Amino acid sequence: MAANYDAVVVGSGPNGLAAAIEMARAGRSVVVYEAADTIGGGTRSAELTLPGYTHDVCAAVHPLGASTWYFRSLPLEAHGLEWVHPPLPLAHPFDDGTAAVLERNGERTAERLGDDDMAAYRQLIAPIVKDWPWLEREALAPFVPLHWPEHPAALARFGLRAARSTTGLARALFKTAPAQALLAGLAAHSGQPLEARGSVAIALILAAAAHRGGWPFAKGGSQAIANALASYLRSLGGEIVTGRPVASLAELPQARTILCDVAPERLADLARLRIPARYRRALQRFRRGPGVFKMDWALRQPIPWTALECAAAGTVHLGGTLEQIAASEAVCAPGALAASPRPFVLLSQPTCFDPSRAPEGRHTAWAYCHVPNGSDQDMAAAIEAQVERFAPGVRDLILARSARGALELERHNPNLVGGDIVGGANTLRQLLARPTLAAYSTPMPGVYLCSASTPPGGGVHGLCGVYAARRALAASN
Ligand SMILES: Cc1cc2nc3c(=O)[nH]c(=O)nc-3n(C[C@H](O)[C@H](O)[C@H](O)COP(=O)(O)OP(=O)(O)OC[C@H]3O[C@@H](n4cnc5c(N)ncnc54)[C@H](O)[C@@H]3O)c2cc1C
Repeated sequence: MAANYDAVVVGSGPNGLAAAIEMARAGRSVVVYEAADTIGGGTRSAELTLPGYTHDVCAAVHPLGASTWYFRSLPLEAHGLEWVHPPLPLAHPFDDGTAAVLERNGERTAERLGDDDMAAYRQLIAPIVKDWPWLEREALAPFVPLHWPEHPAALARFGLRAARSTTGLARALFKTAPAQALLAGLAAHSGQPLEARGSVAIALILAAAAHRGGWPFAKGGSQAIANALASYLRSLGGEIVTGRPVASLAELPQARTILCDVAPERLADLARLRIPARYRRALQRFRRGPGVFKMDWALRQPIPWTALECAAAGTVHLGGTLEQIAASEAVCAPGALAASPRPFVLLSQPTCFDPSRAPEGRHTAWAYCHVPNGSDQDMAAAIEAQVERFAPGVRDLILARSARGALELERHNPNLVGGDIVGGANTLRQLLARPTLAAYSTPMPGVYLCSASTPPGGGVHGLCGVYAARRALAASN
């Protein structure tokens, strides 16, 4: 690590690559050091089951990547990224063979909920869809330094709803079980108990994202996102070194700016004695979200869903009613000891819409459920039972399976502390102070955090990296 750079980025997840791109676009020389042999962090793809079957190791579906401003502002298509949109972003089946559905078209989604809940859905989501262009700049952005929002009424309207609990809002607003369950399944992405205040925020964002930009896959696998970001970075003169774990900031080349796409806990290790005790204690207080148990399958045929809508959906939420999902997501509460025997399962089926990922006529599926943080609980049988509940016979189609528990996920990527995939608990407090009120800035001059443990948090969107880089550029100008 001899040469000097204006900026060094530790970690090549989407946020690390976005931070590097932002520095390079500002004319800075930049290098990215990645511990793994392949770039991409949570956007890697690999043959996890059989040769010829490409699976997304972590992120698979990209509502935030497709609907937020940053990726849209980059020439990623010119660098090989192609979004694949399934006919339906999401289906949510029930035991009677019916399914609730999220369409790309918000009005049709409302109509499908029927007379009892059509107006309520419209009233809840339509303003967010309309206000999206400025909401995404205000709500999916750092709160500090405090500033007067461009559209305070829109932000307040969103904030008042987003701060509610999922169970509270679902029961107050919707009359029918399908509408309540649809909201619950969306909210379960937060990794928060559904009774928690603020747990519904992600549901509102994901529903609006479906109506703005869809919930696409990346053609060929999520690795294509990392590859496109890396290709664009290189076109700007940036460098990437893989297979290079950074154990200490002291081993990095001279640079005015160091951007760390790492977990806050790891920043303390990297900075060693340079880190003031008060900041170290603040990082130790940062709360983690639940872990996940992740499965991938190679399949002989597509999943034989009972509810036909599921076959057209990229993502399928398996968990039944609001009450059943809330019972499962109790595992997300601090101190929970075990996952539910009937877990809420998020499943995606990319090969139904992107045959390039498997041998001809064959298929893959991807799924996970929440477990307590750091748990070694084996959820393979429970996850497959939930899929079988809505798709009888699916077990007979499995050619090979891969299962990874929370601790294995952390071994694969040190940012997934205890198997937490969202970079830290999405509590109301940590939506504001992530990991501290200073967000990207640290007490060490020139050192910034840029991972999903900074605002706006988890997901493949690159926004944490961009905002961190912009803060660094503002400080160094
Ligand atoms: C199972 C799973 C499913 C998910 N599903 C989705 C989904 O469908 N849609 C979605 O939007 N998001 C999803 N996510 C979340 C998403 O992947 C993350 O929020 C996102 O990747 C975070 O990006 P990041 O750049 O902050 O960190 P990461 O993507 O975690 O990248 C961090 C990188 O830094 C490297 N690194 C860490 N420490 C060091 C070091 N000391 N030296 C060198 N390199 C280092 C790591 O090896 C890694 O490559 C999922 C995550 C998981 C695990």
